[in-house]
Amino acid sequence: MNYLWAAATHTGRIRNNNEDAFAPEASGRGSGPVVLMVADGMGGAVGGEVASRLAVETAIATDGTPAERVVAANRRVVTEAMGNPHLAGMGTTMTLVQLDPGAQAHFAHVGDSRAYRLRDGQLEMITSDHTVVAEHVAAGRLSYEEALSHPQRSMLTRVLGINTELEVDEFDLELKEGDRILLCSDGLTNMVPDEQIASLMGSRTPEEAVWTLIEAANRAGGHDNITIVVVDVVQ
Ligand code: CA
Repeated sequence: MNYLWAAATHTGRIRNNNEDAFAPEASGRGSGPVVLMVADGMGGAVGGEVASRLAVETAIATDGTPAERVVAANRRVVTEAMGNPHLAGMGTTMTLVQLDPGAQAHFAHVGDSRAYRLRDGQLEMITSDHTVVAEHVAAGRLSYEEALSHPQRSMLTRVLGINTELEVDEFDLELKEGDRILLCSDGLTNMVPDEQIASLMGSRTPEEAVWTLIEAANRAGGHDNITIVVVDVVQ
């Protein structure tokens, strides 16, 4: 089994800067292991950009499990924020997957960026959002539809950069030929409903899927930075 990936980011149509970061930046193909990630930064004039970039750089440079990479990225952002008053309060999400030979995917995730699997035309969200609103939905206090337009839908309960102690979601997924994995920032999922993501992602190359999704988010308003990573499991 091989993996075929592509990724890109776009500032969107409203914001002046892009606080998302991702890896790998170049398209590629390989049998694994390969590590791919999306980070969505926040805070201050430049803090968001710095946080997501530092987190991605550190996760790439760390030799360890996916969760160990995220933990190292968190410590790096915390340290940097403590040492620089103008970066105080910066933070970032991180959704990371390591794809191993043998169609095994290992995820580590904090925040409200997301991972999905498209299999046989069905799109399945495989991460949980670490937001106040998502916790209300899980507890039955809010419907999924109400959550979509909730004013606090971006308020995070977990983020890298705030505390050296960080709970990281960690899970494994068996893949098979034909599966497609999507990692994305909320600049996509706040603008484009899941059903539309599913139909736009199908029957295209990873590169085409990436740009089709970015275009769809911008057509819907492009209110936020949009970052997309698409990986196919191929023969
Ligand atoms: Ca965002």
